[in-house]
Amino acid sequence: MKKLITLTFIVMLSSCGWLGFDDPIDVTDNKLPYWLKLNARSTSELNMVVIHATELTDMVEAREYGERVLYDNETGASGHYYIDRDGTIEQYVPDNRIANHTSGWNSKTLSIELVNRGRYPNWYHSDHQVMQESYPEAQIEALIILVNELKNRYSSINYTQGHEDLDIRKIPSDNDQTILVDRKMDPGEHFPWQRFLAAVNLKKETPPEDIKE
Ligand SMILES: [Zn+2]
Repeated sequence: MKKLITLTFIVMLSSCGWLGFDDPIDVTDNKLPYWLKLNARSTSELNMVVIHATELTDMVEAREYGERVLYDNETGASGHYYIDRDGTIEQYVPDNRIANHTSGWNSKTLSIELVNRGRYPNWYHSDHQVMQESYPEAQIEALIILVNELKNRYSSINYTQGHEDLDIRKIPSDNDQTILVDRKMDPGEHFPWQRFLAAVNLKKETPPEDIKE
């Protein structure tokens, strides 16, 4: 009898989500003003999660940059999800819309931006090519929960890369045109790839079908 009561209790707990098995992930819906102008897509095409760092000071500044209209179709550049240093998650662009986050890789990818200073504010100064900030535990934990949730939702996602892996272009530095610097360095050397990959079971590769000659 005692066993039965214990079992019933466990079933009750887990079905209510008290044990965390069914907890919906806490994501604040905070769509960008132009989100309806971003092209729609089928989520069945999603195949990769791209990890970014904002290279800005905080979420407020990330929002300002995300809202800026940069293109003729009245949209701008942003990720889908933003994770603050304390693990707070906001969604700027719905999964079924194409966000402008990684040149050439937007159509089938979901992008996650980690709030992190990166090279801020001297992104392209040749003496400042170091990512300045590590990623707090709460931020990485939230990222792992989010990515596992996205994997559950979209079984076609099997790959992950950093922005720096997909955009390897170099550009002249601000201070000396003869010195080239990386256009993108995010998420950079402080991002704990080993831990992340072990926790989400994604391959750190580019989807083979999408590799361009
Ligand atoms: Zn990026």
